[in-house]
Amino acid sequence: MTPTTATHCPYCALQCAMTLIGDAGGVTVAGRDFPTNRGGLCKKGWTSAELLSSPERILEPMLRQPEGSFAVATWDDALDLVAARLAAGRAGHGADSVGVFGGGGLTNEKAYQLGKFARLALGTSRIDYNGRFCMSSAAAAGNRAFGLDRGLPFPVEDLDDASTILILGSNVAQTMPPFIGHLAGARAAGGLIVVDPRRTATARLTENGAGSHLQPTPGSDLVLLLGLINIVITENLADLDYIDRRTVGFDELRRSVGQWWPERVQAQTGVPVRQLRDLARRLAAGDGTYILTGRGVEQHVDGTAAATAAINLSLILGLVGTSHSGYGTLTGQGNGQGGREHGQKCDQLPGYRKITDPAARAHVAGVWGVHPDSIPGAGIPAVELLASMGEPDGIRTLLVHGANVVVSAPNAERVRAGLAALDFLVVSDFFFSETAALADVVLPVTQWAEEDGTMTSLEGRVIRRRTAVAAPAGVRSELWIFQELARRLNAPSSFRTDPAEVFDELCRASAGGPADYSGLSYGLLDTGEPAYWPYPAGSTGTPRLFQERFRHADGRARIHAVRAGVTDAPAQTGGILTLITGRLLEHYQSGAQTRRVPELVLARPEARLQLHPATAAQLGVADGGWVDVTSSRGVVRCRAEVTGDIRHDTVFLPFHFPGEQSANRLTADTTDPVSGMPEFKRTTVRVRALAGG
Ligand code: SF4
Repeated sequence: MTPTTATHCPYCALQCAMTLIGDAGGVTVAGRDFPTNRGGLCKKGWTSAELLSSPERILEPMLRQPEGSFAVATWDDALDLVAARLAAGRAGHGADSVGVFGGGGLTNEKAYQLGKFARLALGTSRIDYNGRFCMSSAAAAGNRAFGLDRGLPFPVEDLDDASTILILGSNVAQTMPPFIGHLAGARAAGGLIVVDPRRTATARLTENGAGSHLQPTPGSDLVLLLGLINIVITENLADLDYIDRRTVGFDELRRSVGQWWPERVQAQTGVPVRQLRDLARRLAAGDGTYILTGRGVEQHVDGTAAATAAINLSLILGLVGTSHSGYGTLTGQGNGQGGREHGQKCDQLPGYRKITDPAARAHVAGVWGVHPDSIPGAGIPAVELLASMGEPDGIRTLLVHGANVVVSAPNAERVRAGLAALDFLVVSDFFFSETAALADVVLPVTQWAEEDGTMTSLEGRVIRRRTAVAAPAGVRSELWIFQELARRLNAPSSFRTDPAEVFDELCRASAGGPADYSGLSYGLLDTGEPAYWPYPAGSTGTPRLFQERFRHADGRARIHAVRAGVTDAPAQTGGILTLITGRLLEHYQSGAQTRRVPELVLARPEARLQLHPATAAQLGVADGGWVDVTSSRGVVRCRAEVTGDIRHDTVFLPFHFPGEQSANRLTADTTDPVSGMPEFKRTTVRVRALAGG
């Protein structure tokens, strides 16, 4: 083991810098000074080294036996079997019967190579990834408005000088605690405004004069934003000069929001007119104003519209691409940003290019050394891909890398049934996740500190992940697995295994695209110089986007008028409530990793349903008592946490837990028609106290 290694946390998109220190006793973690975390880490980061020595690591390939158990296999036997079944699946049912499911935690190199492997080695269009559940609606909105999607189009440090920060639907105090250091300036100025149906740890940061908390009805974010736009326009708070110089589409927006007058918005959202007006005026008056959205706004069937409305509000206030102000979306997964740039999305090629663009196909085909026609066309988004399992003409063979869809996908029991109906399932993971447990073949892979790579943080900064410890003898990198399978499948291109070489190829493939990495290399990243994309060859990167122009041909942002339907609040009788799902401080995503870290499990061993004391009293639910939570798709059984921090009409369940505590047993797999984002944040459920609970 290297004595000390400068690297980054394996979990969320803040990508906190850390030093791994090795000695005879194992590996310990120290926070490292870096602009995003300034030496700070959260509980997950401090305990992340425990993943490396976990007794639950899978250390050899595992093959399912006829009677259902798993047996150890050699790598040759496992890969021969996988390649044979992939080839047979293609021959028998067509290339699109083979699916590939990737993850937003994969390094840039792996995400790139996975997309290339799917298209060239398998010839399938059926590839998508779990970022579809996280960032797809914000990404679609950003691409449509700006011609480019980078979560934060400015460095995180820029927030330090803000006097007003509006955070909609993100609990950063728990999901990425070091981030709240960047809110200190706004809090000191009394300008932190948090919009969330729960009084979260982030909402509590607004107390004692630091700002305000708006607690709307779940799922009413779009109406709230349209109402704010209406107030900005009717009170003449819009920046007309900016709108004239830098945007198109304002007139249509003005016409479309007339119907969302404050009293009507209050009726829909539950947010008082006075709070709405105060917020609109504060946003317009602030010297240094930022609007940030998170999954609470975006994970809806109208998520693209809601993110678009937040962008429209930012544009008419003149915030985007101007100094000391901006709009951004807070990416969640560790490589949620890079994961969506390099080709594991069903409709994209490396460089964040559209797969339907002939010029993009020609460029990437040139780098890959193939004819453009050998690259399949656009596939289908994740929820649709998973729903096709077991259907005629659907997916019959599936490879899963870096995802635990049994826990993380909506309508989880349907996903479980679909996986069980497959002809063949291969899962690459370092733990026996709930998805791996259903596989025919499980391939054990290296972890974050066991190999080199790059990640792209929530601010579009490309950073180096470095090898700190040797991997266990029996595990392999996904890059090696792709090469071995590609060779067995006679793929028409080479698949390198050295991360630096893969990165160089990725950079060439990205040249000229929206996410252009062509000026980057491991050598440059190792100097420690900040590297924000686009970073074309010969440039020094782009920390701040849109300063002069947006990425549309005319340089102007698109104000795209979006409309909201009138929604009825669910009846609050007989235990009918609205469920929202989200994250806890101690766990990450499906919990496949953090549920294996003893300290984190000790702190948060199980899912608990948050509900308001008045609601609990009405239903006869005691704090700590057992409840059934039922939707039309399934039932969750868990304990209750009675708290005044949530609305009377709303309940909250974290989504990190499996089995009968799995929140996604309840959620629907209906999706946003623009982005394919499922509805995670508004599910009608019935809550029932269990006898003796
Ligand atoms: Fe890791 Fe995110 Fe915690 Fe930082 S905030 S230590 S990146 S999980």
